[in-house]
Formats: sequence, structure tokens, C-alpha cells
Amino acid sequence: MSALLELDAVEAGYGKSRVLHGVSLSVADGETVALLGRNGAGKTTTMRCIAGLLAPAQGRITFAGRDLRGMPPHAVARLGLSLVPEHRGIFAALSVEENLRLAARRGSPWTFDTAMTMFPALAARRRTPGGKLSGGEQQMLAIARALMPGPKLLLLDEPTEGLAPVIVERLVGLLKELKANGLPMLLVEQSLEVCRAVADRHAVIDEGRIVWTGDTEALGNATDMVRRHLTLED
Ligand code: ATP
Repeated sequence: MSALLELDAVEAGYGKSRVLHGVSLSVADGETVALLGRNGAGKTTTMRCIAGLLAPAQGRITFAGRDLRGMPPHAVARLGLSLVPEHRGIFAALSVEENLRLAARRGSPWTFDTAMTMFPALAARRRTPGGKLSGGEQQMLAIARALMPGPKLLLLDEPTEGLAPVIVERLVGLLKELKANGLPMLLVEQSLEVCRAVADRHAVIDEGRIVWTGDTEALGNATDMVRRHLTLED
């Protein structure tokens, strides 16, 4: 499998404060990778660099063979990279249908109708404003919207955050279905359980550095690593 997305020694931050200290990470075509880390480890910052929302100070990001340096977010999106941002970023005043139709793109395999089939819960709410949906429905809408342009890679930033366990389960089912359909994903998560259920490979970030990578079986055996890098410190 060739790398679809590759980060090579990426350094980035805000103003004078450096948050990422040389992050290297790859997602192969057809692969689902989880990026795990505590609050403030640099997960969202990594996602923002990939999506073109933050320019790395050093290092290189390539996607589908293209160097993303200097590319604005809309150009990165046009290459086939869709981000589901941490706080969902849906239009609160627009209906479910309007949110989805705005994101549609000619030539994409995803249409409003295919989205309704994949997300029956949204079909029942098609005229409801985004802001009036439950947290779980909003997350589904954010994912559906990111799928509309027909991405080659889906980036998901903490999709399960703040959702009830039964909704998390439903979301995990959906992500597995997308994966079974061959969609590569990079998933930021705090929940080990979600990562293990969905991802093929896992990368652990701590203080802006990737400190561990491995497959799901290895993650299950890495008790000491989990304690050191993922469990909340007292
Ligand atoms: P979380 O789970 O809390 O979102 P994270 O791993 O995604 O954590 P980041 O959001 O990447 O972490 O933040 C990493 C560090 O960068 C934190 O110390 C945070 O305070 C800092 N940071 C994030 N956004 C900004 C910003 N816009 N300006 C300045 N510092 C920021």
C-alpha cells in the first residue's frame, strides 16, 4: 500500500509557542489510522496542519503525491481531503438538507439521496435546523457533510466527544461501514475503545511528538505505554 497522506517531521505552533516538535505519520490508501493523545498533546494542531488551516513552520505534508505546502484549506479540500472538525462546524440556522446540499459536488458519488440512505436518522430530520439537532445527530450531519464532496481521505477530530455511550456505539458502527466501503480515515480520539474498534493502526502523540505506533493487537498489549502517555496524570 502506498502512502496516501504523509507527514514528515512537521513542526508547528501558535505565535512563538511550538506545539508540534517533529510529527511524522502516514496513512496508506485503504487504511484507518487513529491518533491518540491526552488533552493538549497536539492532535487538533496536527489535523489543522493537514487541512491547511495552520502552516507548519518546518517539515513536509504530502497528500496523494502532492506537497501541501502553502496550499489554502479549499485547495487541500479539492484534492480530496475532508475534515470533520472538533466542534462539528455545521450551519446551525440551515436545515439538514441545506447543510448537505451546500457541500455537494458534481461528480461525487455522494448525493443528498445517498446520504439519506446512509444516515436514516438524518433523513427523519431533513427539514430541521442544524442547531436544533441532538449532539449525536449533529455529529452525523458533520460527517455526512464531509462525505458529500467524495473525499479520498476523511479526517475526524474527536467525533465521539460528549456523546452518550449508545450514540458512540452507533457512530462506531457508521465508521466501520465507511471503512468497509474502502474510505481511508485519520481519526483523532481520546477513547481507546473507539480506536481499537475502528482503526487498523494507532499513533500516540504526547507533547507534540509521536511516541508510539502499532496495530490494534500491539495497542492491546501496550499497558505501560498507555499508562505513561494516555492515562490522565494526577
Ligand atoms: P484537545 O483534546 O484538548 O483538543 P489536542 O491534543 O487536540 O487536545 P491541541 O488542540 O492541538 O491539542 O493543542 C495543543 C497545544 O496548543 C495546547 O497546549 C493548546 O493550549 C495550544 N493551542 C491550541 N490552539 C491554540 C491557539 N489557537 N493559540 C495558542 N495556543 C493554542
